[in-house]
Amino acid sequence: MNVLVINCGSSSLKYQFINSDTEEVMAKGLCERIGIDGSRISYQPKGADKEELETPMPDHTKAVALVIEKLTNKETGVVKSLEEIDAVGHRIVHGGEKFATSVVINDEVMKAIEECNDLAPLHNPANLIGINACKALMPNVPMVAVFDTAFHQTMPSKAYLYGIPYEYYEKYKVRRYGFHGTSHDFVSNEAAKFLGKDRKDLKIIVCHLGNGASVSAVMNGKSVDTSMGLTPLEGLIMGTRSGDLDPAIVTFLASKLNVSAEEVLNILNKKSGVQGLSGISSDFRDLEKAFNEGNERAKETLETYCYHVAKYIGAYAAAMNGVDVIAYTAGVGENTAFVRQRVSEYLTYLGTDVDPEKNKLRGETVVLSSPGSKCVTMIVPTNEELAICRETVRLVK
Ligand code: ADP
Repeated sequence: MNVLVINCGSSSLKYQFINSDTEEVMAKGLCERIGIDGSRISYQPKGADKEELETPMPDHTKAVALVIEKLTNKETGVVKSLEEIDAVGHRIVHGGEKFATSVVINDEVMKAIEECNDLAPLHNPANLIGINACKALMPNVPMVAVFDTAFHQTMPSKAYLYGIPYEYYEKYKVRRYGFHGTSHDFVSNEAAKFLGKDRKDLKIIVCHLGNGASVSAVMNGKSVDTSMGLTPLEGLIMGTRSGDLDPAIVTFLASKLNVSAEEVLNILNKKSGVQGLSGISSDFRDLEKAFNEGNERAKETLETYCYHVAKYIGAYAAAMNGVDVIAYTAGVGENTAFVRQRVSEYLTYLGTDVDPEKNKLRGETVVLSSPGSKCVTMIVPTNEELAICRETVRLVK
């Protein structure tokens, strides 16, 4: 089957076109600045150069039309016609408590996704726009919704309830949902497969460390806790997000800065994290460079970041009463040796380590801990698009 995987943001659309039989990416690209001046599309067919084109995209329907035009282009396309697109898989950020698994999209599903809009006001409406745009151009192609929150719906209430009046959970559904579920699911599965074990027999901690970052505890194949909460702001220190803090800081800063609580949240989402702490960058490549040049703020930032990751691993080892596998993934987790090394120094009590030589590897599935370690530490590259493709095939076949 040929599956078009779509990840729609408010002004962007990331896509991959995957042959599900070979799991090869036949083409991929990105539409940016949709509905804004200077919109552009990139398109990269397998084994060929990336094309970039600035062209008007007043809305997402136009963006999807351009993607289809690229995929079916006589010279550079990878299929002959629209008929060769067998299914579309959509990444949907928030499924609330309504979706514990991926689903085939129909009117009822769209309505239920819309009902989750106030839980993810920036993301879900954009995801729906993407679905509608595809529906308009490919009315007969089956579509599947794959939710970032679904994998974590197995968390017990002790993990998802906050210590606030219960009625806010009942009335407004204020609880921990967790995100990056597609990645936590995929990575824990791949880790078990690589080790030749059944995920159902393992206690796995997945550290998805990208620009956004979250940790999850996956016990016997199910997510039992995760660090992101009602929104992706909670948990680890991230690229630009603060992660955990005392909620009183919001009104304290609002008063000191003479701004609204909304504006403080904006600061916590966009100007905090390692970017805010270091004053250098949200990108770990820049931070490592500054650290190697002796920059003290970069050092303090990286130390703080690693300390928080280690604390979450400790917490989830407690949640599962043990841990068999710690898996690092996403941009930072797969590439930044320093972080894996430093975090592992806090974890020798769990019976794991990170071999400095093996730790030089990046971007491939590899065991980093010494042979015979009680707990295996490893890198497992994530692939959310492939996970969405597999889910789509599972549901439409
Ligand atoms: P997201 O999908 O959340 O945007 P990614 O998983 O792509 O994020 O991670 C992006 C981050 O990964 C970058 O900001 C950077 O900090 C880090 N990163 C990516 N490549 C490298 C690399 N080669 N070395 C160190 N860090 C890297």
